[in-house]
Amino acid sequence: MKICIGNNCVVDLLPFEKTRKTLVEEKMALHEKKGKEEAFMLGDLGDIISKYKRWVKKLPRVELFYAVKCNDDHAVLKVLTDLGASFDCASKSELRKILKLGVPPSRIIYANPCKQTSFIRYAAKHHVSLMTFDNEFELHKVKKNYPGAKLVFRMLPPRNFKVECDLGTKFGCEPSKARQLLEAAQNLGLDVVGVSFHVGSGCLEARAFAVAIQQARQVFDTGLDLGFNMNLLDIGGGFPGFVSPLVSFDEIAEIVNEALELHFPLLESVRIIGEPGRYVVTSAFTLVANIIAKRVVVNDHCGEKGETATLSSSSDEPTMMYYINDGVYGSFNSRINDRDHDHIEVLVPRDQETSLKYECSLWGPTCDSQDCIKEKIHLPELNIGDWLYFPFMGSYTTVLASSFNGMPRPIHYYYCLADVWHEVYPKEQRKKQACIKQIPQHIKSGHTLQEVTAINDLENLLTTSIPH
Ligand code: PLP
Repeated sequence: MKICIGNNCVVDLLPFEKTRKTLVEEKMALHEKKGKEEAFMLGDLGDIISKYKRWVKKLPRVELFYAVKCNDDHAVLKVLTDLGASFDCASKSELRKILKLGVPPSRIIYANPCKQTSFIRYAAKHHVSLMTFDNEFELHKVKKNYPGAKLVFRMLPPRNFKVECDLGTKFGCEPSKARQLLEAAQNLGLDVVGVSFHVGSGCLEARAFAVAIQQARQVFDTGLDLGFNMNLLDIGGGFPGFVSPLVSFDEIAEIVNEALELHFPLLESVRIIGEPGRYVVTSAFTLVANIIAKRVVVNDHCGEKGETATLSSSSDEPTMMYYINDGVYGSFNSRINDRDHDHIEVLVPRDQETSLKYECSLWGPTCDSQDCIKEKIHLPELNIGDWLYFPFMGSYTTVLASSFNGMPRPIHYYYCLADVWHEVYPKEQRKKQACIKQIPQHIKSGHTLQEVTAINDLENLLTTSIPH
């Protein structure tokens, strides 16, 4: 069964479990049958549901404020909203998106320490009062535009731990300067209610959280000492999106729980929140892209390079160059900044798997030579029109993708095991989701007539008014 959850999002509810590989291959086959070659993302909403449930189980004291910047896909936000998650927004547009879903402002933190003035006014107008700051100029802006805001001090945590993306170069007030900044807030008559930090995105050392929580306690106490009603600790993001040999979510959760128990014991009733991004969405999305062009480069024994269209002799040492219809100006954009090309896993469909593999490089579709996704990988010989797929593509992918060279972004498809879906959506809500009433004006690309009917109809039912 297919259901619509608004905003053109159709979810395929699976009656029984299928492996991701099977689902990817089924969708590839369907695309081929329809003569489609567009890249697409396949999103497992059940994966997001299970991540949310795991967070609640492993970090029972920490409210999940999902970092919208990581993946602002409507389906992700809708499911998280319905699960009862809260949100970390970084801009007016993200605030609007979340408010439009009917999330109350009390379930939002505006966690950007350097905000545009008009965005602060927007937050004020919509009563999103919780917001971070890390410098005195910001305090003056808040004083002028939202004097009633509930401010959260963004602390710079220790930066000697391994992370994939260090945020400390840009944000955070050193703990040694906390008193001075808190006094400035006090002199302006502003209300500081808590302390936040971000250990860095993709944190690879669980202990980073323990040390940051300990330091946050000191800043918290400085706030109390100055007379602020400190009641919130925000432990930020940085939780891993997939299991790595270096660190796991469970290990971080254990260390966080211990540190909270030690520095923010339950008895004190301090509200604890976290802002995970990667953790929630990385593993839920698989990118599937099509090979649009190919080049075979043969290195002869004298080291000279030549090009050929076929593999002739076994003594040739060919290197394949494959060009696919997504690249570093698209869904692989974060790979440039994170410098984590090693993480990209490239898979071929089962019917292409052979033991004979060639060294190859993968390129995006634009005319820029920097648009190289990965080099020195080994794949079977593939042809134009074949598919490749990439798991763990849910975070910092679609949100960072540009349309450089006029390249389209991948289409999105969603699925969820029906039993898992039904646990989240009680019978009454399901009836509303499955309702189909009117005939559409046009067929939107990527969906059947029946799906578009459901989309158009349910958009009317589910969309609440957009706050401006
Ligand atoms: N919170 C803030 C303020 C951030 O800047 C970020 C990422 O940049 C996040 C949360 C999410 O971090 P992650 O995806 O590492 O969990």
